[in-house]
Amino acid sequence: MFVVKVAIIGAGVSGLSCAIELEKHGIYPEIFERNSFIGEHHPHVSAFLGLITRPAADPIKYIDKEFGIKLKPLKKFRKVIHYSPNNQVSVSGPLGYFMIRGKEENSVKNQLCRQVKSQIHLNSFVQPEDLERDFDYVVVADGHWAIPTRYGIWQEVMRTWVSGGIFEGDFENDTLKMWLDNQLTKGVYIYLAPYSKKKAVIAHVVQNIGHEDLNGYWYRFLESHGILKEYDMIEYWERPHHAGTVTTNRVGKIYFAGAAGGGVEPFLGFGQFNAVISGVMVARSIAQGTDVNLLLKDLHKKSQQLITFRPLLNTATNDDYDRLLGIMKTPGLRSMVYRTDIDMIKLLSNGLKLVLGESKNQVSSTKRR
Ligand SMILES: Cc1cc2nc3c(=O)[nH]c(=O)nc-3n(C[C@H](O)[C@H](O)[C@H](O)COP(=O)(O)OP(=O)(O)OC[C@H]3O[C@@H](n4cnc5c(N)ncnc54)[C@H](O)[C@@H]3O)c2cc1C
Repeated sequence: MFVVKVAIIGAGVSGLSCAIELEKHGIYPEIFERNSFIGEHHPHVSAFLGLITRPAADPIKYIDKEFGIKLKPLKKFRKVIHYSPNNQVSVSGPLGYFMIRGKEENSVKNQLCRQVKSQIHLNSFVQPEDLERDFDYVVVADGHWAIPTRYGIWQEVMRTWVSGGIFEGDFENDTLKMWLDNQLTKGVYIYLAPYSKKKAVIAHVVQNIGHEDLNGYWYRFLESHGILKEYDMIEYWERPHHAGTVTTNRVGKIYFAGAAGGGVEPFLGFGQFNAVISGVMVARSIAQGTDVNLLLKDLHKKSQQLITFRPLLNTATNDDYDRLLGIMKTPGLRSMVYRTDIDMIKLLSNGLKLVLGESKNQVSSTKRR
């Protein structure tokens, strides 16, 4: 019997999702993970936001129904509060889920790992060149832009550094807070996501700065918002985070999934949902011979829609943000944005162009091979 040999680089969200799907087709890949553990060095609480994952308004149910992948959230989040320097708006409803990331047993990666039977080689930092001779296919699922850049398929959209802190204090445990302030983030945002009523992560995402400037931005935020007076910081971490697209998800026997396959959307920098989808679709392409770019057409189309937000956010002033939140207070608008099944990404993209100025939107759609 002919056995298809598949290597997966990275036991992350996309690599493990790919393995789960391959196993359903009777293919047992070998997974190579650089760390000595499954999970991330930096603990945090991530979000599955229905606004971004639509038409899958409930991402957890969608992943289960479509792919048989089971994920248990930390909890549902029911409120999001947006702050601009002189305004704030809050939205309530079934908005999405908080997920645990890091090394914990109930982290997203550890939950996925328990659904995988294939062999995982820990402490194995590998490159496609190390594997392509011994395997029929190599899946790059390493969460990074370096390999797709080397293969000439990466198109960068957003380059950020993230500072994160774990804080103790009193928190609303079903509420996501998001600060919009371009002097502090240069077109991105700062967020607070709670673990519990007593513990939360605050992460500060800044665009287009060098690592040497990161600490300055972080402490400017902490001081200007009185964070250290209100909460105790018990842990700090930092890491780069880039979003981009790829011109193709396959080059010969090499496949690209997750962040390496253009799966981080360039609006908020979210990528969990796309990592699961692209991992599964790469597996289906290997198992069934379907063109992976066709399988991922909708995912990349959504990314292209979200790319239209980037130049608008990059050049928005704090006055623009104040006005935007003011507009969001219009009766009915908040619930329409967050709580319906309308494809708001498309509608909002047009709305933002009106508020912030059509002329700022100069990014043209990139053509995929
Ligand atoms: C601070 C932060 C907050 C985020 N918050 C959210 C959020 O709220 N919502 C959301 O949807 N997304 C969020 N994201 C994005 C999301 O986490 C990623 O898009 C998603 O995890 C990407 O999945 P992946 O499989 O591509 O990579 P990962 O899940 O990062 O997995 C890659 C794996 O490959 C391993 N690896 C790397 N290089 C090698 C190598 N050469 N050899 C072997 N192994 C290797 C790594 O150790 C890692 O385990 C966030 C990202 C960051 C950085």
